This record gives sequence, structure tokens and C-alpha cells, in this order.
Amino acid sequence: MALRNIIGQERALRILLGTLKRNRVPSSILLSGDSGIGKRLAAINYAKAVNCLEPVDFDCCDKCMSCKKIDSEMHPDVSMIVPENDVITIETIRNTQEVISLRPYEGRKKVLIVDDADAMNIYAANAFLKTLEEPPEDSLIILISSNPERLPDTIRSRCVNVRFYPLPVDGCREVASKNIDPKSIDFVLNLSMGRPGLAVSRDFIKENEWFMKLLNNMIYEKSKDVWSDKGEIRAWLDMAFILLRDMAVYKITGSEKDLMLKCQGSKVKGQEIQSILNSYQDMQQVRGLLDFNLNKSITWNYVASIMRTLMANSS
Ligand SMILES: [Zn+2]
Repeated sequence: MALRNIIGQERALRILLGTLKRNRVPSSILLSGDSGIGKRLAAINYAKAVNCLEPVDFDCCDKCMSCKKIDSEMHPDVSMIVPENDVITIETIRNTQEVISLRPYEGRKKVLIVDDADAMNIYAANAFLKTLEEPPEDSLIILISSNPERLPDTIRSRCVNVRFYPLPVDGCREVASKNIDPKSIDFVLNLSMGRPGLAVSRDFIKENEWFMKLLNNMIYEKSKDVWSDKGEIRAWLDMAFILLRDMAVYKITGSEKDLMLKCQGSKVKGQEIQSILNSYQDMQQVRGLLDFNLNKSITWNYVASIMRTLMANSS
């Protein structure tokens, strides 16, 4: 694949290709936007275009030895770091700083891709800032982030920021349809909300079942099954927001046609718009507080009380 083959990110790709055409590749660049919409793919293909031996209209050829080596993660001048246990540590940053400070071995530029760059802890970010302030010659640093607001301003302001956006449904279908069961494609595309990477990598049918099961436990106290960690709380709340959205849609249209979740039965019907909005605000607050080590069982009980009040208000 080359940059030109990435679907639905015309603006971002125009900026990236523009830097190549003008021979103005910046020393550091931040690709930001939701997960699953092509940032990592663009980062890798930008690294390929920068180092390609036979560029096609300034984009990568996808065929030369350099392109092939980068695709198979064998290129000595291109490396990627990802968080381990959700964190990028100062040790990882120091190791990569050494690597990137060397001259390119066979390519035009040394490229360092930092995926989920916002996972750098404060020490890692401070150490990394030094590299951004004094970038080694012939180096290119590509940061990728779905939560750029979590990166320190000092880091963001040193990068050329290229924003990626969720795809329209047709674009998402074009990217993801080959890998999804046609029977569930509309359901999956709706829930992935323009993020084809998620449509392919996540099992939304299972997630829907899991969400409903925990919701029933929560409302009727059927079992002691709760979320296992903060990641599950986040994922469950994301689904809960879609449920609230479905309730509002049903209240307004009176039809099940445009609902996104499956098997909600009576849960979606009858709630008043004001109660839905109140619950939405309360849940937003819970989600915001998750970053501050919110206790799991207190969160469970609080969310349960929001959901029970909402369901009790249904007429
Ligand atoms: Zn090439």
C-alpha cells in the first residue's frame, strides 16, 4: 500500500504528500484522531515514501527494497515503539534516542514512529522533548495519538499536526467490508462509527452481548459479575452512551429501525428525553473521573443507580 491508496483521509494525505513534493519533510509530525482510522498506516507509508528508492509522484512505490523492508519491519533506519502495559517509559525513550541519533544506515532518513504517544509518562515525555527540540540530522519522528490532548503542550507545539477524521459510512464499508460477515456488516459499521480499523479488529456482536449481560446484572443484581478493570469500564460506558442515544432516537421516532444496539427489548423504550439527557451528563462525569483512579465498586454502584433511575422513569 502507498499513501495514495489510503481511503477517506484526503486532507491529511494531501498535507503529507505536500511535504514530500516541496521537499519539506518536517523533523517531527503528529498524526492525531480517533483510533482505527488509518493513522498508523499513514505513518508507515510516509516513512516508506521518505525513504523510497523509486518514488511514484513523490509517494512510495511499494515495490523497491526499501519499501519492502519497511513493510516487513526489517528496515534498519525505521523503528516503531508502542506502549507496554499501557505505558511508554523513559527507558524506552532513551533507547530509541540512541538509535535515532545515528546517521541513516541505508535510507535517506532515520524514522522513529511512536504509536499511542500519549502513553508516555511524564518522565518519558520530558526526555523526549529534548529530542524534539534538537532533532538529530536526517531524522523524522512521527507521533501517533488518539488522545493528543493528553500530550504535553510543549510536545504538541513542536510537531506539525496532521488531523485524521472518522470516515463516512461508504468509505468505512469500502475499507472494512472484505473482512466482515455480510450478515452483520450494517450493525458493525454503525457501531464502529467511521473507524474501519475498529470494525475489523473488534467483535462488536460479542461486545454488545457482554454489555447487555452486565447491564442486566447491574439493574437486577442477577450476579456478581462486574467490570474487571478500567479498560472494561471505559468500553462498557462507551456502549452505555450508545444505549442512551438509542433511547433518545426511539423516543423521537417511535421506530426500532435506526437503533444501533441489538437485543435491548424494553430497555430502550419509554424513557423521557430529559431523563436520558440527565443520565448522559451523569455518565459523562463518571467517564471524566475515570482518569482519577475511581474505585471500581463505587463506580459500579453509582452507574447502577443512574441506570435504575432511568429505567424506573420509563412510562
Ligand atoms: Zn519504494
